Amino acid sequence: MSVLLSSAAAPTAVSTPFASSFNGTPLAPVDAPSSFSLALAALPPGVLMGFAIVIGLVIGSFLNVVVHRLPIMLERAWRADAAELFSDTPCSGDLLNDGLPARYNLWLPRSACPHCGHVLRAWENIPLVSWLLLRGRCSQCGTRVSLRYPAVEIASALCAAGALLAFGPSVKALAAFALSAALIAASMIDLEHHLLPDAITLPLVWAGLLVNLADTFTDLRSALIGAVAGYLVLWSVYWIFRLLRGVEGMGHGDFKLLAALGAWLGWAALPQIVVISAVAGAVVGLAATLSGRMRFEEPLPFGPYLAAGAFITLFAGTPLYRVFA
Ligand SMILES: [Zn+2]
Repeated sequence: MSVLLSSAAAPTAVSTPFASSFNGTPLAPVDAPSSFSLALAALPPGVLMGFAIVIGLVIGSFLNVVVHRLPIMLERAWRADAAELFSDTPCSGDLLNDGLPARYNLWLPRSACPHCGHVLRAWENIPLVSWLLLRGRCSQCGTRVSLRYPAVEIASALCAAGALLAFGPSVKALAAFALSAALIAASMIDLEHHLLPDAITLPLVWAGLLVNLADTFTDLRSALIGAVAGYLVLWSVYWIFRLLRGVEGMGHGDFKLLAALGAWLGWAALPQIVVISAVAGAVVGLAATLSGRMRFEEPLPFGPYLAAGAFITLFAGTPLYRVFA
């Protein structure tokens, strides 16, 4: 069985110091240079890389807001639904009372210290820089600010730099960074809340199909089959586990996330993503169980491992296939 996502050896689109292949394994034909790519390619590589890192940090800062607020917004929506359902019972009013302002979304209210409520001033809200200047503490009450904030910003900046290095200044690099950013947010939410929100996974499926209308990472046929196959693979694993052992081995969000990865990277990327995520998940799960940090039956959030498989496939191609070929 051929495992190459695309057999077309494509010409390099833009002549830049950045490589625009998948480390020797082309996943898709590289499209003709657009005026956008040409305009960006005219900039010196150092400026371009600096630009990518700054954009990555800023988007990382936004991802922190998404990771913190999206689960709260979802819980609010569920509470509102429940309150409507139980509107004739005396406790329905309590369901809506969560102590947060009425208008709570990704933009409002302004970011504040969760401990003392101090609203962050502009200079306290600069990605990474503010955390370093304040030495990871709130300027008002001195409470430690989680390492998660700079970690997410750095991860996002690394993805932006990685996308530029791997694909050059192109629409493809922007798309790769958008996928990476969504995967970072989804993974962090899954780690903290054991939840992969539909608000991230479903738009990611449609976005993957749209991106590949122009054969960006793979052709549309492979993307479409990838979306369906990605969903069905984990859906089957879920039902096999459930019927044989009576346990739910994974959440429905995992099916949707693998469907999205199939839509972005094509069906042929799925075996590698599944193998990497299963092996990584098993190793981490075993280590956590042996060290007593997790019980054996406890479900492991699988999103971060699927994301790890996706990152390797996106930036390094399909090295596993070469090992087994
Ligand atoms: Zn504070």
